[in-house]
Amino acid sequence: MQLETKCIHAGYTPKNTEPRVMPIVQSTTYVFDSTEDIGAVFDDPTKALIYSRFANPTVMAVEGKIAALEGGVGAMCTSSGQAATLMSVLNLCSAGDSIISTNQIYGGTYNLFSTTLKKLGIQCILLDCDADEKTIDEAFLPNTKAVFGETLANPALSVLDIKKWADAAHKHGVPLIIDNTFATPIHCRPFEFGADIVVHSTSKYMDGHALQVGGVVVDSGNFDWTNGNFPEFTEPDESYHGLTYTETYGKQAFIIKARMQLMRDFGCYPSAHSAFLLSIGIDTLAVRMERFCKNAQTAAEFLQASDKVESVSYPGLPTDKYYELGKKYLSGCSGVISITIKGGKQNAIRFMDALKLASNEVHVADIHTCVLHPASATHRQLTDEQLVAAGINPGQVRVSIGLEGIDDIIADLKQALDKI
Ligand SMILES: *Cc1c(COP(=O)(O)O)cnc(C)c1O
Repeated sequence: MQLETKCIHAGYTPKNTEPRVMPIVQSTTYVFDSTEDIGAVFDDPTKALIYSRFANPTVMAVEGKIAALEGGVGAMCTSSGQAATLMSVLNLCSAGDSIISTNQIYGGTYNLFSTTLKKLGIQCILLDCDADEKTIDEAFLPNTKAVFGETLANPALSVLDIKKWADAAHKHGVPLIIDNTFATPIHCRPFEFGADIVVHSTSKYMDGHALQVGGVVVDSGNFDWTNGNFPEFTEPDESYHGLTYTETYGKQAFIIKARMQLMRDFGCYPSAHSAFLLSIGIDTLAVRMERFCKNAQTAAEFLQASDKVESVSYPGLPTDKYYELGKKYLSGCSGVISITIKGGKQNAIRFMDALKLASNEVHVADIHTCVLHPASATHRQLTDEQLVAAGINPGQVRVSIGLEGIDDIIADLKQALDKI
């Protein structure tokens, strides 16, 4: 199936007389004929559904759809993108372990890695996303369990050389986790370049309408968990009567372990209704992404030509630092543009407050054009040096181009730039 077709059909195939659309199965629990039947599912929860804290038919249909789009062996939805990132790391690391991440990542992920994981005893080593092979190689510690990066970074819009980072991770026997939120599987499938795990904030383009916060973890099924670095995968799990994930579930060991251990214990699972809305969003993902990119390309060219704008980061521009990497990894550069207004923070705020169609909001990547000032919002907690390291300038504005008519979007940007 082509991606457009998977968006609409993967994950749910109705049989004779069944509903066209996957219904909202709004139930916390499921009934069994006997105590013995329930007991069997407690030994192996993949055999049937027992409780909607970690599995529900409506959510599982969307999980199937996303796994198909990414080309993975399984997916697990979460109640937010943050929860997806956390689950992906906790499925690999315990206190005393470490991860390596690129610096150019979403502000919430930066907090999670540098503050909260540290409290749990997991150290994060941050590297520039353009670090060379030697620098990456030297950052590995004996306890490093994963490498993390974003395909198209929020808000720096840098493009990650996925293959380089995957090779480095594999050389040290650990997986590469990629946050593919901005590219979406329509414009990049990180597994094709060696990534092992993909996470998304589905709150962005997948939902697409700013309706619902959510996330997902996807497993490529390609990583060899029996390489000696991941005993939790190859030794009996006492909380499941001595079951061994790699032996019982083979290629799906990672994603089933995430559900059986982490989702069971943390319970950050979306509701059936949330999954229903997400599924409707993904139905049109391929068509929407095409128009987001087209509108953003026009807007990026307009902004680049303005004498009020110091610089524009958008990998679709031939002058962009990441144009070549973008051509290698992406079939579209999303609707998000990062611009730096001349005159720093003050002028950036003046521009933003003058916008009429575009709204000022803490969101990105949906049908409504919106803007955000990272230095005073999502990345507010960072020091000036950390801001620079994360690719963020005080005059920087993240412009998320929506699906309104492009002439209206440009007219709004123009009148606001004229007010500076
Ligand atoms: C928004 C975002 C997240 C966090 O997702 P939530 O759904 O807001 O928890 C993670 N990564 C990226 C790239 C994001 O844009």
